[in-house]
Amino acid sequence: MLDVSKIREDFPILSKKVYDGQPLIWLDSAATSQKPRSVIQSIVDYYEGFNANVHRGVHALSIESTAAFEDARQKVADFIGAESSECIIWTRNTTESINLVAHTWAQENIHAGDEILVTALEHHSNLVPWQKVARDKKATLRIIPLAKDQSLDLSEIDTLINPRTKLVAMVQKSNSIGTTNPVKELAAKARAVGAAVLVDGAQSVPHMPVDVADIDCDFLAFSGHKMLGPTGIGVLYVKHDILERMEPFLRGGDMVLEVSYEDASWNSLPWRFEAGTPNMAGAIGMGAAIDYLNGLGMENVRDHDIQLTKHALDSFKELEEELEIYGPKDPALRSGVVSFHHPDVHPHDLGTVLDRRGIAIRTGHHCTMPLVRSLGVPATARASFYLYNTNEEVDALLDGIKEALRYFGNGAGTAG
Ligand code: PMP
Repeated sequence: MLDVSKIREDFPILSKKVYDGQPLIWLDSAATSQKPRSVIQSIVDYYEGFNANVHRGVHALSIESTAAFEDARQKVADFIGAESSECIIWTRNTTESINLVAHTWAQENIHAGDEILVTALEHHSNLVPWQKVARDKKATLRIIPLAKDQSLDLSEIDTLINPRTKLVAMVQKSNSIGTTNPVKELAAKARAVGAAVLVDGAQSVPHMPVDVADIDCDFLAFSGHKMLGPTGIGVLYVKHDILERMEPFLRGGDMVLEVSYEDASWNSLPWRFEAGTPNMAGAIGMGAAIDYLNGLGMENVRDHDIQLTKHALDSFKELEEELEIYGPKDPALRSGVVSFHHPDVHPHDLGTVLDRRGIAIRTGHHCTMPLVRSLGVPATARASFYLYNTNEEVDALLDGIKEALRYFGNGAGTAG
């Protein structure tokens, strides 16, 4: 179990007051998480103590920054059970990680008549790049639909995953409605037909134990900023034997071994995929975030998410008649995110009322426009939880929603 009041002391921003002294209630961690002091301090330490470009200098500071940068890469590798730190490529974020695969591996491996399979839950980051690959390559993009409870409908999965399938690219945990997908089972089905597997771990890696060897995926993409780390740093894991055969993405400094005026050869892994000066401070900050998460234990982080989600779903029952709550009802099949909509209250109005009470939620389509449209609404209100949130904050959310329903609802909100 997490000691949440102790954890909260590590996050300076959580003592912030907004407007006329409302304590900040941060329920927007699916957009970006807050940062503990140790992460902030690791970045300050880097700039104050050993700021220097990596892999380039013979001087003391470059040696120090390179060691810290590569140490952070090893922490990431260990955190997700990668076979080697050579499989970890630093990127800017999940979006860039997925685009890297679309611009490299997919160019060599997707051909006319092939199929790429994604799920109906995808963030635009794991949909739009594949739309382009499919269009350019004359391949077909197929979608695993949703069941009634908004988990994946796997009734036709053995048709959807077939010998033409070359890639199954799927989100492990939906940022929009919280559904957790059975990626391991789907990866096994993909393997059976020789398809590659990409997992969008933007919402799973920060919130639950994720092990690439256990899932047996070829690619895993995630972002530092959603897991207590800084912005501008992300990760692409690629299975070693695939990475060895992949063409570089960006070309320039640091990714080369030998260069003549006519030609160039490539550096060894993983630097072949990291052209130009990388985000050293970001990588070091992400390493500190991983230390923090390891100190808590990812099982505990996941259990806390599940407990908060269960508390939210139980409390929201009070508004069951009026509020549509999306995602599977079983907290084991979803966690960390509660997305909802009231027919008489626009999510932006709801978000504004909550904001005045210091409660930050996200309203909109959450970069899952096709999914939110398929729910039959223009937008939803989304509360997303993390390791620093409490049941009391969930209760404050419920009170705020009831207040908004009193303002805007057509006779609604009487339950409170
Ligand atoms: N996939 C999912 C599931 C996400 O939640 C997000 C961020 N909301 C992304 C991809 C994109 O992450 P980033 O903006 O850090 O690239």
